[in-house]
Amino acid sequence: MLEHPPPEGHCSECGEKMCPGDAEVELTNIPLGTQLHFHGRCAAPAWLAETQDPEEWSCRTVGTVPVLQTPPPQGHCCECGDRIPASESEVILTDRKYGAQLHFHGNCALAAYVAAVVEPSGWLFHYRRIDAEAN
Ligand SMILES: [Zn+2]
Ligand SMILES: [Zn+2]
Repeated sequence: MLEHPPPEGHCSECGEKMCPGDAEVELTNIPLGTQLHFHGRCAAPAWLAETQDPEEWSCRTVGTVPVLQTPPPQGHCCECGDRIPASESEVILTDRKYGAQLHFHGNCALAAYVAAVVEPSGWLFHYRRIDAEAN
């Protein structure tokens, strides 16, 4: 995270401007009442802050939220909806309770990572790495 909060409307992680319509995470410092904003893809530190110190930090997603609720057809990425070729590395998120598996491209796995960090008792995160050389 940046040491000093960037100007209004900029991401606290990468410092770049937030675009309207982008998935955004708002991190509130509860005692101070100040708010930091993150791109959805940059929000891992925000989720970690809330996980480690929920008395002090509170996270909230704004706008388009990465969707985990409606899994696409088998073999498709739950984040972007595109097919995951068998030759590509993927992330598998397993629902520990129901055994359902969600699949993600390696590049689309932030939501999966966040789910596993926020609720490790609910989700199992597995990175299936394909060695391109092996094919
Ligand atoms: Zn960012
Ligand atoms: Zn994807």
